Amino acid sequence: MIKKQSALQEKDGVSKPETTSAFSAEKIKQNRAKQNSVPEFVSKILEGNITFLSKAITLVESTNANHQKKANEILKQCLPYANKSIRIGITGVPGVGKSTFIEAFGKHLTNQGKKVAVLAVDPSSSVNKGSILGDKTRMEQLVTDKNAFIRPSPSGTSLGGVAQKTRESIILCEAAGFDTIIIETVGVGQSETVVHSMVDFFLLLKLAGAGDELQGIKRGIIEMADAIVINKADGDNEQNAKIAKVEFNRALHLYPIKESNWQPIVLTASALKNIGIEKIDKMITDYISLTKENEYFTKKRNHQNKYWLLSTINQQLKDNFYNNPLIKSALLKEILALENGKTTPFNAAKRLLDL
Ligand code: GDP
Repeated sequence: MIKKQSALQEKDGVSKPETTSAFSAEKIKQNRAKQNSVPEFVSKILEGNITFLSKAITLVESTNANHQKKANEILKQCLPYANKSIRIGITGVPGVGKSTFIEAFGKHLTNQGKKVAVLAVDPSSSVNKGSILGDKTRMEQLVTDKNAFIRPSPSGTSLGGVAQKTRESIILCEAAGFDTIIIETVGVGQSETVVHSMVDFFLLLKLAGAGDELQGIKRGIIEMADAIVINKADGDNEQNAKIAKVEFNRALHLYPIKESNWQPIVLTASALKNIGIEKIDKMITDYISLTKENEYFTKKRNHQNKYWLLSTINQQLKDNFYNNPLIKSALLKEILALENGKTTPFNAAKRLLDL
């Protein structure tokens, strides 16, 4: 039993509560002693140890207060070693080829000796009990690459929660020496906006259709995109992809020039056949050079940090409010009073907030 439990612990770095046993108190003590310390976590992460990186991310994702405390300590000590990567956001509808693209692009980078981490932001994963994004089985080659690290989306009750955990995981991956962090998302709710606010470069994957490419695309996404890549530009689809490229290019030129001074680019690619990947890599390198030179790169990261500070406060305030037992019962009463016409929404809200 001890052996079994310690194996479990070693697997995820999180001690599991012991079930009833005559020796349980003693075993808990032993297990506590076996838990990895914060300095151990930090030094292993800085060495690039993937097992410890995974364990630390598990702590970040845990809702247990002790785990969170430990995770915060690890994060604090890793922070001076973070910030050195290029963060790339990738979005597109299911089936557009995100996994295939990340696999091709990721391999292209690891072949150059780079270290690539793939994280995902999928707010639906908590509903579906498991993530469809960042699924390891969908990136067969990358998953066996020693220079790649793939982590599915954390589950959470809200997009804000999922996003915060991903932000923290980025820091850990950077401290572990990953120089490119890819964040995959699918356009559910606000997930694209959230990913956009944590990356340096935002790439939208699209498919060529029957000439109506611009329909059904969220306006905000075009504005966020630093590049649009028309994927599956192979076989019979190649010509359509070329037409789509012209259309998107025309649409992009209607937008005012970005603060980064970067003119978004439209490219075609075939993730499946590995065509156009090198061009995309070069484009991202050009973007990074330009924005580092004109200092937009640092400005954007500072702006993102401020955004995350405020959004974490908002999230925490909301969580504290709604999880407060006093509020929980008072809220139910106010809702009842509201339904019976005995109060107004504003009076009810004021009373709850005053509590
Ligand atoms: P995701 O849901 O966006 O991650 O999409 P997947 O990467 O899982 O790809 C969906 C399907 O499209 C799979 O059957 C892929 O093999 C196929 N696919 C992906 N990229 C390409 C491509 O460049 N060309 C072609 N012809 N098929 C592709």
